[in-house]
Amino acid sequence: MPNPIPLGVFGFPAGHILSPVLHNKAAEELGLDYHYLAYEVRPDNLEEAVRGAKVMGFRGLTITIPHKVAVAKFMDELSEDARLMGAVNTIVFEENGNLIGHNTDGIGWLQFLRETTGEHPRGKKCLVLGAGGAARAVAVKIAQCGATHLAIRNRTSAKALELAHFVEKSVPSAKVEGGGLDDLYSAADGCEIIVNTTSLGMWGDAERMATTPIPEDFIPNDCICSDAVYIPPDTEFLKAAIRSGAKVVRGTGWLVYQAAAAWKMWTGVDMPTDKVMEVLHETLELRLGTEG
Ligand code: NAP
Repeated sequence: MPNPIPLGVFGFPAGHILSPVLHNKAAEELGLDYHYLAYEVRPDNLEEAVRGAKVMGFRGLTITIPHKVAVAKFMDELSEDARLMGAVNTIVFEENGNLIGHNTDGIGWLQFLRETTGEHPRGKKCLVLGAGGAARAVAVKIAQCGATHLAIRNRTSAKALELAHFVEKSVPSAKVEGGGLDDLYSAADGCEIIVNTTSLGMWGDAERMATTPIPEDFIPNDCICSDAVYIPPDTEFLKAAIRSGAKVVRGTGWLVYQAAAAWKMWTGVDMPTDKVMEVLHETLELRLGTEG
């Protein structure tokens, strides 16, 4: 019997990466012969590892921290999102030998937002909290979607200013302003979408997990609150948003939908996202129970 078609994720470290659970569940549900593994690849070995995957017949790779920016220079071609975001989270190995770099972080977020709320950032006032890798993808996507206004707020204000400038250069029609946390109340006032992309609320540190990136009384009661943090699935931010009357969009959905976009490019088949979401929640419950 031939070996399954290899897929995988390159990261450093790689011990806690969840994407094998998602993609292997999709393969099992669909009865497709793919096998997806996590590989710990040191930054110095990234180019060699990507070339190795190509000659070993990989159909695709997920690229995660810390390689998303560095890997772009090894691609033969970049998708529009990867180019505008300056980062690659998905590689497609084409039959002609070309390596195409994509970024599904923004589209995954948008598709899950639409699925959960029926809403779109077009014409809306939006606030992104944080200015790291997740913020870059979602801020570019919000700008591409035609938000009326985008504010980026971050603990380190210089990074928010830099990201705002980056987004305005990538999407010249966008109106983006960056800053620190001192005027968070006015930045949130009248916002229709707030996205947390900081790691506040994330499991692994009790104080961090109990913290929200924005005070509860700053959240407008008719806004949509989306969290990048997925462990735990119901973060303090999302709980505060529910109490404020806001609609919530969980980080688990964002994680599954960015994986689903990659899966579709590699296999040509839709990921069974409901089944994959179930297995993700089971895995997170186990992780929170055994290691929390
Ligand atoms: P990153 O590049 O390291 O950025 C981290 C961000 O969090 C920075 O803006 C940082 O602010 C901020 N931050 C960290 N500790 C903070 C604190 N104590 N107080 C205030 N701000 C703090 O990380 P990333 O790749 O963007 O990931 C961020 C989060 O999103 C992680 O939890 C990650 O797991 C999650 N994520 C989820 C998805 C998904 O599919 N659901 C996708 C991507 C990422 P400074 O600049 O001031 O340090």
